[in-house]
Amino acid sequence: MSATAETFDHQTKPEAEQGELTDGFHLVIDALKLNGIENIYHVPGIPVTDLGRMMQAEGMRVISFRHESNAGNAAAIAGYLTKKPGVCLTVSAPGFLNGLVSLAHATTNCWPMILISGSSEREIVDLQQGDYEEMDQLAIAKPLCKAAYRILHAEDIGVGVARAIRAAVSGRPGGVYLDLPASLLGQAVDAIEGEKSLVKVVDPAPEQRPAVHAIERALHYLKRAERPLIILGKGAAYAQCDDLVRRFVETSGIPYLAMSMAKGLLPDDHPQYAGAARSLVLKGSDCVMLVGARLNWLLSHGKGKQWGEPHSKKFIHIDIDPKEMDSNQPIDAPLVGDIESCLADLLAGMEGWKKPSEDWLGAIRDKVETNVAKMAPRLQNNNVPMDFHGALGRLKRIMADHPDAILVNEGANTLDFARSVIDMAKPRKRLDVGTWGVMGIGMGTAIAAAVETGHPVVAVEGDSAFGFSGMEVETICRYDLPVCVVVFNNSGIYRGTDTDPTGRDPGTTVFVRDSKYDLMMQAFGGEGVTAHSPDDLERAVREAIASGKPTLVNAIIDPEAGTESGRIGNLNPQSVVKK
Ligand code: ADP
Ligand code: MG
Repeated sequence: MSATAETFDHQTKPEAEQGELTDGFHLVIDALKLNGIENIYHVPGIPVTDLGRMMQAEGMRVISFRHESNAGNAAAIAGYLTKKPGVCLTVSAPGFLNGLVSLAHATTNCWPMILISGSSEREIVDLQQGDYEEMDQLAIAKPLCKAAYRILHAEDIGVGVARAIRAAVSGRPGGVYLDLPASLLGQAVDAIEGEKSLVKVVDPAPEQRPAVHAIERALHYLKRAERPLIILGKGAAYAQCDDLVRRFVETSGIPYLAMSMAKGLLPDDHPQYAGAARSLVLKGSDCVMLVGARLNWLLSHGKGKQWGEPHSKKFIHIDIDPKEMDSNQPIDAPLVGDIESCLADLLAGMEGWKKPSEDWLGAIRDKVETNVAKMAPRLQNNNVPMDFHGALGRLKRIMADHPDAILVNEGANTLDFARSVIDMAKPRKRLDVGTWGVMGIGMGTAIAAAVETGHPVVAVEGDSAFGFSGMEVETICRYDLPVCVVVFNNSGIYRGTDTDPTGRDPGTTVFVRDSKYDLMMQAFGGEGVTAHSPDDLERAVREAIASGKPTLVNAIIDPEAGTESGRIGNLNPQSVVKK
């Protein structure tokens, strides 16, 4: 479905009869279904246990998790993958709070999500008389998301759900909080009136066409550039106008970089992909066009040594949010609009386009070739214990043979190395820690990826990262999802070699040596395998993909192999006290 579809696909329901009653529970369900919401990521409990049961009975797919953080991360990534709000349903206060991290994460990443939480009685909460799980959830959610609403009357459920959906997906997408007090759900309403009160959102994410002069200005700079560069971000992947992105990049002939989750928007082995010459193109370019990518910390805010001389470049920036312009660097050609419209209008003005000079393209090609050749032998090692490259070399091959499989990736070294080693061939196949670099997205993301797409999922997890959501292997087994979790087990955070200088306790960053993570999956009826060598690893992952069975591969990595904080060790503050 494209961004500009009039409404989301929806299910219809038989009409209500005279004298029939409905209630808040059913109106919530009907409102969601009317707007094409089919999947719910959930943890049951008071006051939403029956709501979850009824959703399932009414044909929605309800996935019950072990912890709301993971259900929320699932909803967040479902939003990214489908352009419909991913919905997470939780209990009041503690469940709501657990869901908030993912709501803020969705908002930060510009993904549409709705966190629906039950809440306790307004009269008691507002007088602070001490209700069961008393908390003013609406007030707490507000600063952490794009919009927050509370529905007090069953007749308002239609409007409340419609507002939540529109707020989540329109303009810059983000997280929305929807507060449903317990007393709302049981409110009775005449069924015919209830049905009339529902709202089917028309054109939930309206097209935003850029102005003609803004397109002309952008083409003006692009045409004059001698060493142009395109940077594709996950906003471009989210936009789901993949053919247009490809046509624009190929027509322009301009080399491009893909941000982590934009990898595969064009295949990573595309001749214009400059990923292996990143330093060269960032420094050497004279005009940078950002497409759904922000100049945030992930791009060093567009300044500093890696960007070359200050003021040496022109910036063209496509984004749906006008406030994003000039946020870090002055933008010479702001293109405010949706990516699909912007790229279509740019393409229309590119007849007879002259591709960049062979000087620029040749220099990049040489650099890419040299760097790829340098990396190749490291990826072929069969060392025991494994290092990151030996293990990832095999996963790279496996993913190349399964271009539809989805790669979920988190960790420190496990994340950094996998991002650069494993090529993606198709859009939205790489799902990772996003803008914040959150640890703990792993299992929620893997589950939603399997549920939303039906494709096999390979989750490459640092052992620390895995620990944040590891209990959800039970959920993976319960729903029998085609998820293969590969735990890169180097017995610690960054490395497994830290010690306590006083000798009293384990070092703060180490875990139990030789942990048998594979037994966790076996405990719930899935497959568990220990891999000591790259050969073991390759065999186990290929079998898991072929069988579609929930599998955990405990990949034993040399505890000496990692580096502090992966590639972002520079972000650690340094103490001035030397001991
Ligand atoms: P990355 O981390 O991959 O660089 P970011 O999350 O920083 O990507 O940037 C994504 C950007 O894409 C956000 O600024 C967001 O406003 C923008 N965006 C999302 N959807 C669209 C769309 N359909 N059209 C234009 N811009 C979009
Ligand atoms: Mg580790």
